[in-house]
Amino acid sequence: MYIRSLSLALTLSVSSLVAACAPVQQHPVASASAPTEQRAPVTILVSIDGFRPDYLTRGVSPHLNALASGGVEASMRPSFPTKTFPNHWAIVTGDRPDRSGIVANNMEDESRPKDKFTMASDDPYWWNEAEPIWITAEKQGVRTATMFWPGSNVAWGGAKAAEWPYTISNGSRPSDWAQFNEAISPTQRVNGVLDVLRRPADIRPQFVTLYFDEVDTAGHINGPDAAQTTQAVADVDAHIGNLVAGLKALGQPANIVIVSDHGMAAKANDRVIVLDKIANPADYRTVETGPYASLAPIPGHEKALESALFKPRDHMQCWRKSEIPARFHYGTHRRIPPYFCLAETGWVFQNTTPTRPITGGDHGWDDRAPDMQALFIVNGPAFDRAFRPSADFANIDVYPLLARLLGVTPLASDGDATVLQGLVKP
Ligand code: AMP
Ligand code: ZN
Ligand code: ZN
Repeated sequence: MYIRSLSLALTLSVSSLVAACAPVQQHPVASASAPTEQRAPVTILVSIDGFRPDYLTRGVSPHLNALASGGVEASMRPSFPTKTFPNHWAIVTGDRPDRSGIVANNMEDESRPKDKFTMASDDPYWWNEAEPIWITAEKQGVRTATMFWPGSNVAWGGAKAAEWPYTISNGSRPSDWAQFNEAISPTQRVNGVLDVLRRPADIRPQFVTLYFDEVDTAGHINGPDAAQTTQAVADVDAHIGNLVAGLKALGQPANIVIVSDHGMAAKANDRVIVLDKIANPADYRTVETGPYASLAPIPGHEKALESALFKPRDHMQCWRKSEIPARFHYGTHRRIPPYFCLAETGWVFQNTTPTRPITGGDHGWDDRAPDMQALFIVNGPAFDRAFRPSADFANIDVYPLLARLLGVTPLASDGDATVLQGLVKP
């Protein structure tokens, strides 16, 4: 009630200010005697795409380091494959890619032969196999807002018509969401988060996501060790500093969970595996190439393809999807192509001999490779700073943590609630 009348008073005072055109006005926005609202902590999930935990030691991230030393920091194992969409979805659903259905950044599905999934796909069909935390939260009365997160623009649970105008029926989204756009600056994103938290309590989110892409982009273009990547770390760190300062100015306590989806490793000209040199292109079609290659056989050519792929070779290994080693937890979903080849970290598959130099960085390799490990920092009143996550802690365990912070009952998932149990004060 108080909040409503305060915002009304604010609106009135601002409009009378404009009407009067007074050059100098003592505006009574927040009088010293007005009672300050006791805000409940908000949970903020921040993703810094492609942030390798050792970037924290480059001496350019004072705000992240302060959050780490005032909270808890750990290296977090991503899910396989160490790609952006599978891992962002794993963090918010608790399901590994093999179960969540977001098995790659680019996908095919035999049930939809005419369709392909790309990172721009908002058709709920691709996303509906695992429920993200913002949907679970909204169902249980917790208001959510996303300033970008893969899948947060999707009408989850809905259906998209196969024909123009491709109407999407049913489905739900966070109360506040935004269509991803790389051109929306990090400053705008941080301000967007602070703006929703400035609202009256009845329309203010209790869970917010925030996403930064520049560290990943710099890592791809220049490589993880480049000065430009370090500069991107410094830039994002400054935005984190603005977020923290903005929260403080608002008097908004926050339980902040900062993650990355995967790390980054350097590529090189002399670490390329050319697929058409090891197998006959008449026998296969590639679905994805890069740190791994996924292949579909040309019907009737399976034997020829297998004898080429399964020869022992340096720096790579191929499997039938059903025989991918169990530790990857990958290979049962229908969207995974029949053959899967993984390169040694730092090596990449290309369809044909590269015509341009192979430089920069990439990710997608073994989820246990040191360079693929992900960032995890928590800071806020809910956390027990003495807690140390076990070495086996993986990103699917973040989902039960988020549910606990939000006070919602999580769905069953691949995530194990006991792994980070001690991280939250009883
Ligand atoms: P990757 O190709 O795995 O390195 O993916 C990183 C890229 O994903 C970023 O540079 C973004 O452009 C893109 N991306 C991140 N979030 C989204 C989103 N919500 N929707 C579409 N693209 C996204
Ligand atoms: Zn990524
Ligand atoms: Zn990337």
